[in-house]
Amino acid sequence: MSPTITDPAVCTASSPAVPPPVRRLTGIKPTGPLHLGNYLGAIRPMVEAQTDPATGATHGVVAVVDLHALTVEHRPHEVRALTLEQATVLLAVGVDPRRTTLFVQSQVPEHTELHYLLECTTGYGEAQRMIQFKQKADGQRHVRLSLLTYPVLMTADILLHDTDEVPVGDDQRQHLELARGVAERFNNRYGDTFTVPRGVNPPFAARIMDLADPAVKMEKSAADGAGVIYLLDPPDAVRRKVKRAVTDSDGEVCYDPDRKPGVSNLMEILAACTGADPRQTGHGITSYGQLKSAVAEAVIDTLAPLQRRHRALAREPGQVQEVLAAGAANARERAGATVARARRAIGLL
Ligand code: ATP
Ligand code: MG
Repeated sequence: MSPTITDPAVCTASSPAVPPPVRRLTGIKPTGPLHLGNYLGAIRPMVEAQTDPATGATHGVVAVVDLHALTVEHRPHEVRALTLEQATVLLAVGVDPRRTTLFVQSQVPEHTELHYLLECTTGYGEAQRMIQFKQKADGQRHVRLSLLTYPVLMTADILLHDTDEVPVGDDQRQHLELARGVAERFNNRYGDTFTVPRGVNPPFAARIMDLADPAVKMEKSAADGAGVIYLLDPPDAVRRKVKRAVTDSDGEVCYDPDRKPGVSNLMEILAACTGADPRQTGHGITSYGQLKSAVAEAVIDTLAPLQRRHRALAREPGQVQEVLAAGAANARERAGATVARARRAIGLL
């Protein structure tokens, strides 16, 4: 391998060392079609970071985390189809495989190997305390053991790729804290092995709410998608869902998430789609009808280019699979080195 600029051998006292790029990981579960919350809260910031001069030294690692989709009731053929669909949407949105390592989690078997080693570093009580476990387990007759250990697999996803930063919506904050705690515990107990990650958050649109019930988050696995805007929804579906969005009865267009969750959610979506501050987006809008029209058109304009690119890419599934295979091969190089370190540290031959 030819030396790179960061090799100590080629760095002289007069040439300042170039710091390694910050590694940022995003995982998307193929539990349902991607929606506007995924896009505004996770995918768009990740795509922007690829070209943002302020974060030019960032390397994105993006995984379609199909193993996580098996933690809840699933149909095998749907998970497979959604995995390919999500990868296709990610490419359509602008994930650039030259700048970002894009792969499918199960094609990098080191994820499951590290998962086990980290299960041996995590307490049962810690896993049980996770709010998302309680929410997802609630009301289910058959709770899969993997739902309990899901945050440990997520920890493995993060630590495996030497991740520095994880963009997280509010829903993932507790899991990220667990990942940090497990990394620190492993490092303290067995020697310095893992990079301890930090969470980063987009300033607005960190949590887009369901239009039909603004008390709950917009979610892929929502039982009823009436309040969920999917990225591949045609314009008439977007207009219909926004038109039916739950607001309140006082008719006042103002941003106040506690008192007016429905209206504030619409304003947040409008702001995120138009690049404004949600507190300012109400200017000139005097009725909920006007607000809803503005939101629907802003969302349709935001989705149109990615839907066009998705249509073209979806005609070439073989090409998408090739990109994923190359991404997995690339990811396995680093993953293999991390697992080797962890195996050695924890006491395996
Ligand atoms: P699921 O119902 O399967 O949990 P989800 O819609 O919550 O699906 P995830 O795959 O869990 O999506 O999360 C993918 C990324 O999207 C994460 O970074 C998560 O924080 C972000 N995200 C998910 N839902 C929202 C939302 N409503 N608003 C903003 N960001 C979100
Ligand atoms: Mg989720």
